Amino acid sequence: MLFFEPTYVFNDITGITVRFLEKKRIKGIVLDIDNTLTTHNNPIPPDSSMKWLENVKKAGIKVIIVSNNKPERVVPFAELLDLEFVANGKKPLTTGINKAVKKLGLEKKYVAAIGDQIFTDIIGANLSGIRSCFVFPMQPETSLPFRIKRTLEKPLLPGRNRIIKE
Ligand SMILES: [Mg+2]
Repeated sequence: MLFFEPTYVFNDITGITVRFLEKKRIKGIVLDIDNTLTTHNNPIPPDSSMKWLENVKKAGIKVIIVSNNKPERVVPFAELLDLEFVANGKKPLTTGINKAVKKLGLEKKYVAAIGDQIFTDIIGANLSGIRSCFVFPMQPETSLPFRIKRTLEKPLLPGRNRIIKE
């Protein structure tokens, strides 16, 4: 497996159904925030994300946030969603993800990361030895560093033909 390749590909987070997670024996999720659950730096996730999270929690699947964003962004968000978190996650380094997996109290084989960036979420998951669900970003970022990152990422993106639809 190539280190930038996600295990599973979805159009967006709402496509990752409880049925899919159960089928793949995913009992814990390492969840990205920005452009995965809500648009970049937006403090309020859309209803669709809230509903998705509610369903996942109800199914007994554990969720923890790992974000590279700063605590000022992550803490209020985690409180709003009533989730544990790791801020300054330093993805693709493995430290933040490993810390989160430990907090989940699950073996790595039962954990998958969900995120919208190849260079952080997907490579981080692969280096940490957990599975990954790639979701296409909710909205294009406007800042220059992000636009550069997205341009570099483009040739590594999974094909839309890989999108899992249940
Ligand atoms: Mg993100």
